[in-house]
Amino acid sequence: MRELGITRVRIGEFAWSKIEPDPGRFDWAWLDEAMDVLHEAGLGIILGTPTATPPKWLIDQNPSILPVGRDGRVRGFGSRRHYCFRSPAYLRETERIVTALAERYGSHPGLVAWQTDNEYGCHDTTRCWCDTCRSEFRTWLKDRYETVDALNDAWWTTFWSQTYRTFGEVELPEQAVTETNPSHQLDYRRFASDGVVAYNALQVRILKAHSDAPVVHNSMMLFGDYDHVDLADDLDAIAFDNYPIGQLEESPFSLDVKEQFLRTGHPDLVTLSHDLYRGLKDQPHWIMEQQPGQVNWAPNNALPAAGAVRLWTLQGFAHGAEMVSWFRYRAAVGAQETNHAGLLRHDGTPDVAYHEAKRVAGELAAPEHRDVHTAIRSTGDATDRPRVALLVDFEDLWATDIQPHASAFNYWGQLFGFYAPLRGLDVPVDLVPKKHAGREDEPHARSLEPYDLVIAPAMQLVDEDVAQRLDRYVKAGGRLLLGPRSGARTVTGRAQEAAPGPLRDLVGARVTRVDGLRPDVQRSITMLNGNESLTYRVWADLLEVEGDGVALAHYDDPAYQGATAYVKRSHGSGEARMLGASLELEAMTTLLEAWLGELGIPTRRLPDGLRRSGAWWLNFTSEAHTIDGVTIPALEAVPVS
Ligand SMILES: [Zn+2]
Repeated sequence: MRELGITRVRIGEFAWSKIEPDPGRFDWAWLDEAMDVLHEAGLGIILGTPTATPPKWLIDQNPSILPVGRDGRVRGFGSRRHYCFRSPAYLRETERIVTALAERYGSHPGLVAWQTDNEYGCHDTTRCWCDTCRSEFRTWLKDRYETVDALNDAWWTTFWSQTYRTFGEVELPEQAVTETNPSHQLDYRRFASDGVVAYNALQVRILKAHSDAPVVHNSMMLFGDYDHVDLADDLDAIAFDNYPIGQLEESPFSLDVKEQFLRTGHPDLVTLSHDLYRGLKDQPHWIMEQQPGQVNWAPNNALPAAGAVRLWTLQGFAHGAEMVSWFRYRAAVGAQETNHAGLLRHDGTPDVAYHEAKRVAGELAAPEHRDVHTAIRSTGDATDRPRVALLVDFEDLWATDIQPHASAFNYWGQLFGFYAPLRGLDVPVDLVPKKHAGREDEPHARSLEPYDLVIAPAMQLVDEDVAQRLDRYVKAGGRLLLGPRSGARTVTGRAQEAAPGPLRDLVGARVTRVDGLRPDVQRSITMLNGNESLTYRVWADLLEVEGDGVALAHYDDPAYQGATAYVKRSHGSGEARMLGASLELEAMTTLLEAWLGELGIPTRRLPDGLRRSGAWWLNFTSEAHTIDGVTIPALEAVPVS
């Protein structure tokens, strides 16, 4: 590992049955040896707590640890993540094993960080339908609403005769004849997310009591079942697991796109994760796992292109990562992940990625590239900071999931619909958590002041608080763009009287009707300045201009009877706009290019698959491209001159 240029190694994240083979009998010898061997070789150790895999004896002792699925059936032992985040027995056991581990290794000289658990929520384990969860959900609701009348009002339970007399009557939102109340579902998502965050906080508290090492968690790419903003607030750094090919294979992209990026993954989809996870804490993030070859878990598992492993690594550092770690070092010779590649093959001989990892480790150690990760990251000098920000929020994601209203309308898709055109225009982007955006003097507050343009791509839930923060930003000279469905709902999931709710006056328009379309239906809007036609699919908010609002585009579909598609309202040097249609990527590129030009933000159209990430040109295509007089060969990375 040292010869390869590796400096950190993560171990132990599923090792409970090796650490404690029988109840109360700990076998530390093998882990002591591993820690010492790695440390003596000069490698820093990231030690995982083993709580994603409670051993068989523990489950037999305490079957109440097991989670219950939405079908009411217990999800049993035999794989991983088989625990309920709120099981009292499991909280006790977690405290016991994490304390033992922290006491043993908290001051080991080789320890550089802790990883809590592993990939919270994977395999649909964020929500559980057990008796403990039902009872704690009722308590959670009482804390939130205080009176059952307030809950009935927030959920509008008069409809379908759902009025509750006590909190004790509220069931978990599943196993009903058809769709359960969407506000009920939204609160259950919040409750479940709070359970994950509290469970993680328990581990953080124990680890911090015994150790000065930073505590991190490895999240999954664009995974939305729990609120990553809340989780990140409790951690010293946030990590994610980077699987570009597996992710594309599981994504809803067309077969054409999957073919185009078969062996590299989609570069904009990957950097969306980098920018999201960097943005959660506005500090360098970590890649805890990155695929060094094919994975085992996607429906189909293609080999990466020669050079892809190096490109992903440079891409990560250039987007603000301060660590990239591969999963795994050597391919496992048995069990569930036998087919997952390592840097070494099953027989221990170096695979293709081994040589790429070695090359990139050497490149990154070169003096001229030492600061590669500072080139785009948003911390430090504000002049390095991207000028455009996207707001991100997990409650908005849940609201979208619960009632999509058009089958192809999904949260990440909406975010990508703005993000990818910006990246294709060579514009760096920050992602900023909506719940921290524009706050002042509060823990985790994130100023919007550095940004010339803030885009809320899919902000369905809007209350007075967020509206005031955005209002303040615009009236101080900022520019705001609201995407489709903005402000359609209150935070309890009820309809605003008219979208965008409390932002109506700011943008000078209201939504009168909406159109949810099959993904194969394409329609267009016409820009009033220049008559350019821009296409959209899936969603249209029909806008009606109010007050000082000014229409910028009309819909062309006669069914809409001339409704406005795009509107702006000026506020001194600031400006707020709302776009009602889910534009296709090419159309969005045209729309953003024009406005960015007016704002003095430089743009240029890059070929698909050629991207500038920080100080590097990265070419994910199979042909060479020349830009600024520099030729970037196929599947190569070249420093920006
Ligand atoms: Zn449960």
